[in-house]
Amino acid sequence: MPVYEYLCEACGKSQEVIQKFSDAPLVDCELCGKKGALKKQMSLSSFALKGSGWYSTDYKKSSKPDSSGGSSGGSSGGKSE
Ligand SMILES: [Zn+2]
Repeated sequence: MPVYEYLCEACGKSQEVIQKFSDAPLVDCELCGKKGALKKQMSLSSFALKGSGWYSTDYKKSSKPDSSGGSSGGSSGGKSE
């Protein structure tokens, strides 16, 4: 099932929700309880890989030198192991 990313305009927190394609998009934030504050985000992971070189260079600069494959969020690729 696909994972959708939602951003709450009330509390500013994003959350990933696993939904079916047929499911209606969420609108209520479970974190702060605000109704109608959730906004569905585009699939950022696939977007970033395609054509944003400025982003990857900037990201490299601020990332840790050791490549220990941290799972501190952000990367949503290959988590099916
Ligand atoms: Zn919220």
